[in-house]
Amino acid sequence: MAPDLPITMSAFKPLIGLSRAELEAELVAFGERPQAARMRARQLWHWIYHHGLSSFDGMSSIARPMREKLAATYCLARPSIAREQRSNDGTRKWLLRFDDGQEVETVYIPEEDRGAVCISSQVGCSLTCKFCHTGTQRLVRNLGAREIVSQFMVARDSYGEWPSPSGERMLSNIVMMGMGEPLLNFENVAKALRIVMDSEGISISRRRITLSTAGVVPLMERCGQELGVNLAVSLHAVTDELRDEIVPVNRKYPIAQLIDACRRYPGASNARRITFEYVMLKDVNDSPADAKALVKLIAGIPAKINLIPFNAWSGAPFECSSDEAIERFADIVNRAGYSAPVRQPRGRDILAACGQLKSASQRAPKRVAEASTPAPLPV
Ligand code: SAH
Repeated sequence: MAPDLPITMSAFKPLIGLSRAELEAELVAFGERPQAARMRARQLWHWIYHHGLSSFDGMSSIARPMREKLAATYCLARPSIAREQRSNDGTRKWLLRFDDGQEVETVYIPEEDRGAVCISSQVGCSLTCKFCHTGTQRLVRNLGAREIVSQFMVARDSYGEWPSPSGERMLSNIVMMGMGEPLLNFENVAKALRIVMDSEGISISRRRITLSTAGVVPLMERCGQELGVNLAVSLHAVTDELRDEIVPVNRKYPIAQLIDACRRYPGASNARRITFEYVMLKDVNDSPADAKALVKLIAGIPAKINLIPFNAWSGAPFECSSDEAIERFADIVNRAGYSAPVRQPRGRDILAACGQLKSASQRAPKRVAEASTPAPLPV
């Protein structure tokens, strides 16, 4: 049976990560008539994403001979869990290993009666933001839709939260805030999010999904238009001079372009504000003048500001701002009419907080890596 084999040796075709249309086409190729394939795809979708089954055995609405036939060809395997860590604040972090041995981290951050799964979009990252631990790991490759969706499924497995609850859930939200830049892997991220949003499966509403970008301007509009998810923007600086330094993608898409794209973000309103993330770096970007420039910059955008105390990692060239500096900054932003919650660091003890994720995955020697090297930044 597929699930018993080590995933890397699996000769079975994975079904997780296929769109509905692809799943149907797969079943036609498997020998079903088109009409029957549609029904079968629907059944499978329900078992895979609503019930979370990882083998065909329990699919009671499918006749046994068909289940056996499916199991001889396909698998529903998740990535293997190379390590699971639990923080004393309840945060959980998984180091997940994919078929080719590459690894990423996924985090679950519980709140009282809900919680967010923080999902990675790439192995490593190409953006080299100076305060970010992931940024010190070179980009290895993009994750496929299957690898993105299955991060959420592993978290659900861990909490046994199957079938998808119709009301309250522990795993209620998704933040695309793990390793990598989601807008530099837009097609796969979009495909994965369409799967998790599908109401006959995992069924997480777009209102409960937030995609965070360091500012890949040309893709922001598509993100709003095609996915309709909430947008978070890693701003972190109010002048191009500083932002060029600490968020180098700014050299390609400077602040004015980024803010303009935020103004035009489809679906932004007072009820659905854009989040500006702002990491608090001591004596770098945390002065009252910075705060005042920030509110001027975003004037007129339905926004909230998320102040993130800098999470340290070994060798980081920054310190976290003092509590007083953070408070002073928040005050100025508040008085200008914006909500400015200070993000409570979670899971710092297991390096699961913002910007602390990293895996040991490295890029293969050049010849091997070429095939999967992601495209350069769009222009
Ligand atoms: N590439 C995307 C997704 C990563 S989200 C983006 O940049 O938005 C991770 C968030 O944590 C970003 O806002 C990032 O800027 C922030 N971050 C990175 N390193 C951090 C650190 N050391 N302390 C606090 N926040 C950090």
